[in-house]
Amino acid sequence: MKCPNCETREMVVIQMVVSGELLGLHSCSFCDLRWWETREGILSLAGVLDLASVER
Ligand SMILES: [Zn+2]
Repeated sequence: MKCPNCETREMVVIQMVVSGELLGLHSCSFCDLRWWETREGILSLAGVLDLASVER
């Protein structure tokens, strides 16, 4: 796993479950880029908000 922006491997990963989906929030220690990943790949912020807004 590398940062897609600066390609460092130093990043913080926070995993959480939102609406039954396991999400990883990746935060690059070097360039401060943040992105989300699911089992299916990188998720846009809009996709995360969609998931989080579904009430079950
Ligand atoms: Zn970076």
